[in-house]
Amino acid sequence: GDFPIETDTIVIGAGPGGYVAAIRAAQLGQKVTIIEKGTIGGVCLNVGCIPSKALISAGHRFHEAQHSEDLGITAENVKVDFSKVQAWKGSVVDKLTGGVAGLLKGNKVESVSGEAYFVDANNIRVMTESSAQTYTFKNAIIATGSSPIELPAFKYSKRVINSTGALALEEIPASLVVIGGGYIGTELSGAFANFGTKVTILEGMDDILMGFEKQMSSLVKRNLKKKGAEIVTKATAKGVEETENGVVVTYEAKGEEQKVEADYVLVTVGRRPNTEELGLEQVGIKKTEKGLIEIDKQCRTNVSNIFAIGDIVQGPPLAHKASYEGKIAAEAIAGEASEIDYLAIPAVVFSEPELASVGYTEKQAKEEGIEANGAKFPFAANGRALSLNNSDGFMKLVTRKEDGLVIGAQIAGPGASDMIAELGLAIEAGMTAEDIAMTIHAHPTLGEITMEAAEVALGSPIHIM
Ligand code: FAD
Repeated sequence: GDFPIETDTIVIGAGPGGYVAAIRAAQLGQKVTIIEKGTIGGVCLNVGCIPSKALISAGHRFHEAQHSEDLGITAENVKVDFSKVQAWKGSVVDKLTGGVAGLLKGNKVESVSGEAYFVDANNIRVMTESSAQTYTFKNAIIATGSSPIELPAFKYSKRVINSTGALALEEIPASLVVIGGGYIGTELSGAFANFGTKVTILEGMDDILMGFEKQMSSLVKRNLKKKGAEIVTKATAKGVEETENGVVVTYEAKGEEQKVEADYVLVTVGRRPNTEELGLEQVGIKKTEKGLIEIDKQCRTNVSNIFAIGDIVQGPPLAHKASYEGKIAAEAIAGEASEIDYLAIPAVVFSEPELASVGYTEKQAKEEGIEANGAKFPFAANGRALSLNNSDGFMKLVTRKEDGLVIGAQIAGPGASDMIAELGLAIEAGMTAEDIAMTIHAHPTLGEITMEAAEVALGSPIHIM
């Protein structure tokens, strides 16, 4: 047998949940060990948020280079060397994962490469290909993340791919079928459509991007269709036949069976929590039917010295939510009173236009019995948006009727992903529409849209009637 290594806090998984938890725990004076079976940075840095945004940026530039006639710019023979796109994308990922490794080291967190498995509530085994080591801990934070769901009729292969496969393609596909129009499927559809891929989205529900208001998702749909994408809703993907150079996907829509050919089929129908091969049953940690770990407001599981954060617990599976919970768990272990408060988790889609939402929508407020007001302001009335030649979209500011308190915001438009931060702050700080309206915003900026939406809420906007 081996000699156990003792540590205060063990963190399992080095994604945006785990590495942030490890750094915060170390800052608070704990001896921390982080175990990662794959690559530091987790899904987000390696095969999620970051590489997808890099691909989206490259696709956007390629498309813009060919479509700036309005500005008097034409370019001939705009070419893309996709292997260079991939190399650049890889360099962005490497910079960030290297940076995180450095931060862990700088904070004296011990990084261990291997797969962790619970022995009991104070011991884990870490397996590598050649060895096994036991670690004895006082507290543990589980941050093992999630994996793409596989559909039984669409077993992953060379041509039936998930998001990881799509991000790693070596060539731009001539055609791509995307099953599932959630944010991951829609973002990747947009990226490839910009590179010239003929995209077909098959969505089972009434619409793509169901988490967002129709007025917002319809702008994204229009933009995708302009780039030649086909969007089939209420479509059930039935099966796939692989040919020598591609796939034939069978689906049912409007009661009829249909077929579509493509180079690849990308399946983005959701993700499942990585809570199965961890030995949780050895410790008696409670899970929901969906395999999520149950936690309290301090991210504590039913076993008092074991915490869980990120994609393996309830709530939106987003990187910033994982990191937020990581800080809470580390602080709770240090005896602080930190508690989770999901009031203002922003959700962003890096589509065209970008979509972003935080807090309540008007409809959600109504459902909760809050009398709310939705104040809309269009990007088309903003000088900066017009000078960017990108004025498709709007902001909606949701305030409480009785006192003008900001309780939510939705944005569709260029820069929405950055603009949403101000609204999150407004909600967290308990600001009113008047507070935003009275804040001087630089001109000409997209930020003025926020100020103007607040003016709309107050009933006296300057730049619209
Ligand atoms: P993960 O990032 O999944 O990390 C978990 C880590 O644990 C992994 O590295 C895994 O190898 C390791 N692990 C698992 N089991 C063990 C074990 N037994 N022992 C040791 N290590 C283990 N979110 C956003 O907020 N914004 C975005 O723009 C965005 N874009 C995305 C795009 C794509 C294509 C995808 C797939 C996801 C995207 N996400 C985005 C979601 C985001 O990546 C996740 O919400 C986030 O990574 C979850 O963080 P986590 O720390 O919970 O887990």
